[in-house]
Amino acid sequence: MAQRPRKSSLPESSGHPCAWAGCVLGGDYKAPKSRQSAHEYQWFCLEHVKAFNQNWNYFEGMNEDQIYAFQKDATLGHRPTWKSGTGAPPLEHALEEALRGFWNGEKATQTKLVKPIKARDKDALALLDLEHPVDKATIKKQYRALVKKTHPDVNKGSKQAEELFKKLAKAYDHLIKHYEG
Ligand SMILES: [Zn+2]
Repeated sequence: MAQRPRKSSLPESSGHPCAWAGCVLGGDYKAPKSRQSAHEYQWFCLEHVKAFNQNWNYFEGMNEDQIYAFQKDATLGHRPTWKSGTGAPPLEHALEEALRGFWNGEKATQTKLVKPIKARDKDALALLDLEHPVDKATIKKQYRALVKKTHPDVNKGSKQAEELFKKLAKAYDHLIKHYEG
């Protein structure tokens, strides 16, 4: 098993960004890159080091690229698609979501006063791996991080990345113009 995150390291920042595809949080938890590169490390936020650990068995036989592709699926799908048998218990996942909101400086009470949201806004947010409500600064930050990873310049020849890049641009454009968080 990969090592467990230590609670005591929480307040300190490692200075590394979370290595999970599409995640913009700080990566304060260390994990091996893959089963093949068990001595090389990468950094994740708490939610993603847990997701990484939970999927450790599933990653068997995968190289770093394949693991990254899995992460991208999990991040850019509607919600993380946990494989059966390695699934995160729903309660624990909800708790992590709440914690993530807490670390982002949101107040827990804020989620109770959420305005209804249009399906198109929701889809655009989901594509950026964001949830209503969210402010435009966060949308911008998330978009920039995702664009960096999907930009045609860094994904030479990847049709998939190009498609995603375009979709992200559309979603971002829509949100900036129409979304009221
Ligand atoms: Zn993360």
